Amino acid sequence: MIGVNKWFGAYHALRDIDLTVEQGERIVICGPSGSGKSTLIRCINRLEAHQTGRIFVEGTELTADLRRIDEVRREVGMVFQHFNLFPHLTILENCTLAPIHVRKMEQAEAQALALHYLGKVQIPEQADKYPGQLSGGQQQRVAIARALCMNPKIMLFDEPTSSLDPEMVKEVLETIIALAKEGMTMLCVTHEMGFARQVADRVIFMDAGAIVEINRPEAFFANPRHERTRLFLGQIL
Ligand code: ATP
Ligand code: MG
Repeated sequence: MIGVNKWFGAYHALRDIDLTVEQGERIVICGPSGSGKSTLIRCINRLEAHQTGRIFVEGTELTADLRRIDEVRREVGMVFQHFNLFPHLTILENCTLAPIHVRKMEQAEAQALALHYLGKVQIPEQADKYPGQLSGGQQQRVAIARALCMNPKIMLFDEPTSSLDPEMVKEVLETIIALAKEGMTMLCVTHEMGFARQVADRVIFMDAGAIVEINRPEAFFANPRHERTRLFLGQIL
């Protein structure tokens, strides 16, 4: 993304964001509440529209053109804080919905794929249950499997563990770490700084809609360049 700005009415939510994510790169975004972290990643699949600047995903520019939005969304997996599973569909149906309707996959093939990814996130036995019958950690792993079923080029995570009970954080982080180790390109908003140290290639600190600092994790944590980053890290570490 180049020179991206976004306003909500008069409120300037993203300020001159320049960011290039390389293939296979893992980026962690942190920053105070309201700093624009969710807005930034939501712009990447146009859940929010930016007003100036340009955003490209694998060479396709995100514009108001609906066909392009669909093209890009097919390649971008998104996992939210609150899972956002369809409550009236089974786990398997949650995972096969987009492959069948968007990728036009045969049902049997989509089901086999879903079971493969549910196995990968360690819950193949939950396929016929409904989201409400699963723990938060299990639901979040379903959300990850569902995104993977679309074979995305990049995964966006927005605080994937922050609505989980502490004992379930680890199982979800381990799932994301495994994905990172396989080389999945990812942008993850999180305040799990242990995770950032372990998997991030670069860590971004945002404040007031701007990228204040971006650096390799070793340097980011040992020697933050900006006072605001230092203060923030002091509060959460
Ligand atoms: P948090 O850590 O609390 O999730 P965040 O860094 O993700 O915060 P955003 O959700 O991106 O922050 O919000 C950035 C700013 O934009 C906030 O001030 C928020 O109030 C504002 N904002 C976000 N969405 C909207 C919206 N749909 N309409 C108006 N203002 C919005
Ligand atoms: Mg947010």
